[in-house]
Amino acid sequence: TQFSDLGLAEPILRAISAQGYETPTPIQQQVIPAMMAGNDILGTAQTGTGKTAAFVLPLLNTLAKSNRRPDAKACRALVLAPTRELAAQIVESVRAYSAEMRTSVTMIIGGMKISKQVRAMQRGMDIVVATPGRLLDLQSQNAIRLDQVETVVIDEADHMMDMGFLPQIRKVLAQLPEKRQTVLLSATMPKDIRALADKFLDNPVNIAV
Ligand code: AMP
Repeated sequence: TQFSDLGLAEPILRAISAQGYETPTPIQQQVIPAMMAGNDILGTAQTGTGKTAAFVLPLLNTLAKSNRRPDAKACRALVLAPTRELAAQIVESVRAYSAEMRTSVTMIIGGMKISKQVRAMQRGMDIVVATPGRLLDLQSQNAIRLDQVETVVIDEADHMMDMGFLPQIRKVLAQLPEKRQTVLLSATMPKDIRALADKFLDNPVNIAV
């Protein structure tokens, strides 16, 4: 499979070439078509497999196809990450792969000045990459709203669990629109993560690499 066989929009294909990627990795070959078909996904994948591009490229593809702007404080895609470092890496990937698009990506992490984040949110956001605690903080201050999320990605779910974030994840997921796409990625599948998937994913495609 080549990237050009996956049906990704031209600006995305150009950005991928600029990164020097030649072929999609195994997880990309499976996750990209499944996400583009609108399925929920339960994916077992380690760091280093190309998992970030696997979920970022389909998110960008949706945005490339419809440039509907969400209301102020709302976003269309939400990515939850366990740490600031991982959130920053994901944002960097989004920026690289959307270099030829007009896509906004907003990072919401602890330790960042709230005033800066609030300003970015006023216009309405395409993609938000957040750590769960800070996201709930801002939401409780009515600085962000979660009612227009079309796709949510939970990255490194087992790592989130180890850090004690499962209650926050459940709280976020419970507030999203019922009709949405949910993608859950984890390096391992302990039973608490399976239980989370059972509750919040709808007939997911199982992918393991
Ligand atoms: P990740 O598993 O998302 O942390 O990605 C691991 C590394 O693989 C990152 O440095 C990416 O830039 C790189 N990468 C992702 N997809 C591809 C690809 N299709 N071809 C070559 N490198 C890739």
